Amino acid sequence: AFDVLVIGGGPAGAAAAIYAARKGIRTGVAAERFGGQVLDTMAIENFISVSHTEGPKLATALEQHVKEYEVDVMNLQRAEALIPASGPGGLIEVRLANGASLKSKTVILSTGARWRQMGVPGEDEYRNKGVAYCPHCDGPLFKGKRVSVIGGGNSGVEAAIDLAGIVAEVTLIEFDSQLRADEVLQRKLRSLPNVRVITSGLTTEVHGDGTKVTGLSYKNRNTGEVHRIDLEGIFVQIGLVPNTEWLKGSVALSPRGEIEVDARGQTSVPGVFAAGDATTVPYKQIIIAMGEGSKAALSAFDYLIRMAPV
Ligand code: FAD
Repeated sequence: AFDVLVIGGGPAGAAAAIYAARKGIRTGVAAERFGGQVLDTMAIENFISVSHTEGPKLATALEQHVKEYEVDVMNLQRAEALIPASGPGGLIEVRLANGASLKSKTVILSTGARWRQMGVPGEDEYRNKGVAYCPHCDGPLFKGKRVSVIGGGNSGVEAAIDLAGIVAEVTLIEFDSQLRADEVLQRKLRSLPNVRVITSGLTTEVHGDGTKVTGLSYKNRNTGEVHRIDLEGIFVQIGLVPNTEWLKGSVALSPRGEIEVDARGQTSVPGVFAAGDATTVPYKQIIIAMGEGSKAALSAFDYLIRMAPV
């Protein structure tokens, strides 16, 4: 059995594994895809002290750093169920899709999240070539350009306000007949001269020239008319979905499906900690996920040294 078993191999999981292994305890990582969302990222310019890097490069560095320690890395392994220990000092079990079952004194959940996609033609083709999901990450790449934000909930309106200070103009497109963001955000949005809001708009296609985005089409849901906007960037803000479906019923989740954690990364289940985009911790960023992963590992170690000897 492991002392610490980490589920997920993104920035949070890698940091948790390194911090745990540095305590000299038996550490394992099971990940469906080691590297996580970082593998899907091109330019990274907000990883403090590294002014520019690329996702695949950072993912390789994460894996190399983990492998410098005695960590049992189980890549391409999907966890399907978590079974809490039967009593104090017992082992927690994680069942994998391949039928195997792993046991550990503590578990750190760091299965991350995925951005909900529009599912329209051109979106996949132009991802990272104008189609973006993270304004904190990619906003500055569109300085002085025209962008659109898809989604009029809190994250969409926050993104539009944020981007309005950087880009030339922002067109926010909301599917519903009205914005769903908090009133105070909507008021701020309406005060900005370079933001246009379109409601009852359904994005139908992302256009490009083969290498980058050049525009988008949307349908007015009231009239059925299709309009085309010329622009350079599209920020999709229609939801970040935590990869926690497999934990329903075993660990307390927020209404949005995020794993509820306290300030130490402790979940509702004794010995089970969580970190990164899968949790209720706000602001989903690489540097935050790494900090939270390190914290969860230190909390797990703290838990272990208080366990009755077996
Ligand atoms: P993830 O990176 O999502 O990793 C989750 C891990 O868990 C993966 O290994 C996954 O395979 C695994 N997993 C999931 N489910 C299971 C399961 N059931 N069983 C086993 N393993 C599982 N952040 C920045 O700070 N700067 C940027 O420039 C930036 N750009 C981004 C660009 C894009 C296109 C995207 C999508 C995100 C970007 N982000 C950026 C956000 C950043 O990537 C995330 O905040 C960060 O990766 C979260 O780390 P994590 O470890 O919590 O989760």
